[in-house]
Amino acid sequence: MSETITRRGLAKTGAAAALGLLAPLHAADAAESGWRAGLARVCITPEQPVWMHGYATKVRFRPFVGKLNDLHAKAMALEDTAGNRAVLITVDLCVLRRKESEEVFRDLMQATGLERQQILICLSHTHSGPIVGTSDVSRFPMPEADRNRTIRYTATLRRKLVKVAADALGNLRPARLSYGVGKADFVVNRRLYDQNGKYRSMGPNRDKYVDRAVPVLRVDSPDGTRRALLFGCACHAVTLDGKNLRICGDYPGFAQQYIEDRHPGCQAMFATGFAGDANTDPRGTAQMARDQGRRLADEVCRVAEAKRQPVRGPLRLERTTVDLPLQQLPRKRLEQWAKGPGYMAHNAKRLLDLLAQKKPVPEHYRAPIAVWQFGRDLTLAALSGEVVSDYVPLLHKAIGSDRLWLAGYANCVFGYLPSARIVGEGGYEARGLIVDIGFFSEQAEALVVATVKQLARKAGRRLP
Ligand SMILES: [Zn+2]
Repeated sequence: MSETITRRGLAKTGAAAALGLLAPLHAADAAESGWRAGLARVCITPEQPVWMHGYATKVRFRPFVGKLNDLHAKAMALEDTAGNRAVLITVDLCVLRRKESEEVFRDLMQATGLERQQILICLSHTHSGPIVGTSDVSRFPMPEADRNRTIRYTATLRRKLVKVAADALGNLRPARLSYGVGKADFVVNRRLYDQNGKYRSMGPNRDKYVDRAVPVLRVDSPDGTRRALLFGCACHAVTLDGKNLRICGDYPGFAQQYIEDRHPGCQAMFATGFAGDANTDPRGTAQMARDQGRRLADEVCRVAEAKRQPVRGPLRLERTTVDLPLQQLPRKRLEQWAKGPGYMAHNAKRLLDLLAQKKPVPEHYRAPIAVWQFGRDLTLAALSGEVVSDYVPLLHKAIGSDRLWLAGYANCVFGYLPSARIVGEGGYEARGLIVDIGFFSEQAEALVVATVKQLARKAGRRLP
């Protein structure tokens, strides 16, 4: 082989890596090892019996009894060669409302010196974890002693989240990052329709779209030792149903546990995707949750072993809040909705109360949206709320589908974020805000998509 050909070959490889094309991992070893990563974890299983979040069933109107596995908060701190830092915290909890989220962010920023856009909190949305804070408490007939235990749990949780973030930042070590995508086979759409195409009820619907992608970010030591696997799945953690009284991370909790059992020393972390209208199938027993967790763990490990794309810096972090428009509804419509079903009545009744008291009706809800850009190699778009799966093709069209990681349930979960289609059709995911008041308008969709596009451009993603 002549020297010229060899040189040309090398030049080609280098150009491909520089362009961020599908370069095999070994070709970009040097470039991707510029990171430093720090990892930390803490158990957040409640030590005292507190009420659980996720189902408003009578069975659950009491504190939990026992546990199936532990809940965790896990942090991944990242630093690029220029010293840009960020911390991603994954938490095995159902929701963090605006008030509790703001308190947690205040604590985190104060303790770490980081700014808001440098911190991302991703929730697993397990429906077998504790209620956090007091935002939701008024919706339940909770005795004062139980309420006080929830308040004490929340204070402990806040301290633990600060500690886990600080610990991760405190043990930054050289690291290599790589990325791949697998597929989950137990995710189904949960909106059922009648023969005329009218929304009927919640239940498995295998004919409708869901996002089955399983994105995986692998963090290695320079010597190739696996240190962390961050993975996602766009599916509600509801395999354990409203009869369950045992604390559990549901399928994401089991998946993390199985990955860590298989690779001691490796921290598994889970971030939910756009799962607003996606449920597990089947549902009902702990064995089903274990089985789905095992299948997801198998897939994550398969992707982590397979050929992956290098993820290089620099890290660019963008964040904004967007005032999502709420519907301004005539009193007649509200009176109609107030009669039921319950999921529509919740907001309708509260809006009628505001009108009766001559108080202003909210026109917007302010939702955070974040984009983290890893060089030319990966974009993480993290939206707050329970984002429905329609936003996956919408964002693919707006900013491209390649090397795009979509996370919902990030930073704050205010209720569902419906698409314009779902607002028009109605049904469970059109029920609006849970603690704050109002129904999202069809116009919210365009604003969300435009905002993500703007942030992605600002962060340096190549747009189609
Ligand atoms: Zn949900």
